[in-house]
Amino acid sequence: MIDLRSDTVTRPTAQMRQAMATAPVGDDVYGEDPSINELEARTAELLGHEAGLFCPSGSMANMLGVWSLVPVGREILCDRRAHIVRAEMGAHAALNGITMRTWTSSSGTPGIARTSDITDLLELGCGPYLVETAAIEIENTHNFGGGTIHPIETLREIREICRQGGVAMHLDGARLWNAHVATGVPMREYGSLFDTVSVCYSKGMGAPVGSVLVSSAQRIAEARVQRKRLGGGMRQAGILAAAALYALDHHIDRLADDHANARLFAEQVTAAVPAAIDLEHLATNIVVMDAGERLAADVIAAAADRGVRISKVGAHQLRAVTHLGIDADQCREAGRIVGELLAS
Ligand SMILES: *Cc1c(COP(=O)(O)O)cnc(C)c1O
Repeated sequence: MIDLRSDTVTRPTAQMRQAMATAPVGDDVYGEDPSINELEARTAELLGHEAGLFCPSGSMANMLGVWSLVPVGREILCDRRAHIVRAEMGAHAALNGITMRTWTSSSGTPGIARTSDITDLLELGCGPYLVETAAIEIENTHNFGGGTIHPIETLREIREICRQGGVAMHLDGARLWNAHVATGVPMREYGSLFDTVSVCYSKGMGAPVGSVLVSSAQRIAEARVQRKRLGGGMRQAGILAAAALYALDHHIDRLADDHANARLFAEQVTAAVPAAIDLEHLATNIVVMDAGERLAADVIAAAADRGVRISKVGAHQLRAVTHLGIDADQCREAGRIVGELLAS
């Protein structure tokens, strides 16, 4: 099977498992796990923040980040396809009384906002009449947008608008690594524009589990309390942090291979069906495909019969995601098969 459903399907490599097996550990609820402490400090430093918090999932890291910025009963704004509004099971409303309004990104690149998308929605100084905007959220790269990248210039403009309005900013950087590798913009340059940032080690970075939230020391101290409240206080989880530390040292630059492989896959598909993929907006490791009249579910089943697993992002839209478990030849082969199915 060539599994391109997601970059979450990666398994730890032999070397990563070795790093996990020999990791120094302690009780992290007591703050005594050296591997977790190192991972939190290194991730914070990398993103230009004071402190970090290791979380069992990206969803939890997003929750804790958003909750540290948005009081109960206030709102956060985000793109209509953002992970925080679509894929976190309503956690922000269900568990912390936060409302969300969404914009439709109009830059022409799927999922990528123009500053006016945000300024059109901001609600400030409206008194006891409308819900006041406390924060906005940006996803970079944008998952359901197809791994697309927010230009750093746009992010700087948004930062300035939010600074003037007293509006906080959260970055869902589950795949910020991919944006960094594709553009050469340092992680810190992205990270330091935001008040809170979450990054995933369990996607393209190839670790089995784990995300880190970074922010000011004070916000992270509060988030640590919330994490325990959610049941996310882990003990000798340094075994997991060791995998993330290994990824920091060995798996960032290699994301360029995933991006090149996504292009190989996409070229094979478009050789068969030129209109299936918007190649202009293929930026990282996520390839979104238009299935035309075909139902995505039917194409997925037919591809699985031929040894290729892909996933669905709409009734007639498919997605393939490259990652460290798949090489260039497999991507060409998978692209050829999916292209045949879309052409038939
Ligand atoms: C995967 C992902 C997350 C976190 O997901 P978990 O499954 O909770 O780790 C957050 N944001 C985006 C954009 C993602 O793709």
